[in-house]
Amino acid sequence: MTELLFRDDAYLRSCPARVTAADERGIRLDRTVFYPTGGGQPGDSGVLRLASGEVIAILDTVKGEAADEVIHIPAPGASLPAPGTEVTAEIDWDRRHRLMRMHSCLHLLCAVVPGAVTGGQVSDGRGRLDFDVPGSSLDKEAIAARLNELIAAGHEVTPRWISDEELADRSELVRTMSVKPPVGAGRVRLMEVAGADATIDLQPCGGPTSAIRRRLGLSKSTR
Ligand SMILES: [Zn+2]
Repeated sequence: MTELLFRDDAYLRSCPARVTAADERGIRLDRTVFYPTGGGQPGDSGVLRLASGEVIAILDTVKGEAADEVIHIPAPGASLPAPGTEVTAEIDWDRRHRLMRMHSCLHLLCAVVPGAVTGGQVSDGRGRLDFDVPGSSLDKEAIAARLNELIAAGHEVTPRWISDEELADRSELVRTMSVKPPVGAGRVRLMEVAGADATIDLQPCGGPTSAIRRRLGLSKSTR
């Protein structure tokens, strides 16, 4: 099991970690800032830095079989570090930040377009959500205008957790019909976009999101 540091702080770019296993599938660490492919968001790339100065390029990150198991996939031909090796795990931050911004933008899109989400994809530079909107047509210009309004408002984006039972009682929170939230662990992570007087968006979400910055003026956070 890997400690998933990005869950509570998506802005962590690197962390010290220890290699727990390394084989032909990839490298496992006791903790990581690398997000593994899932929930429509690609896995992180980056590097593992060893005390010796050696740098192992990580091309992709995927989930293992066990819960919270993360596999860092090195470049072909890379020499694998022995279990116990101390490393610094460092993601390609520029790419991850672009993915986080797209992810947050799709949460806002959820708030603008009514209807169940039936699919979606966060990609570098583009994103997609599929909505089931029976019997109505959507106005692209109006959606874009409302989306830009929400971005300009710079609302807070905050992860929080609720129990499996509470989620079962509040099924309206589940917007994405194609991917069921991972219940069974006792709690489910939610992403909340809080508005001034009402919640903009609140739904199960396991991936890293960015803060929504005002286009003009100073951002609220220094990070
Ligand atoms: Zn999300």
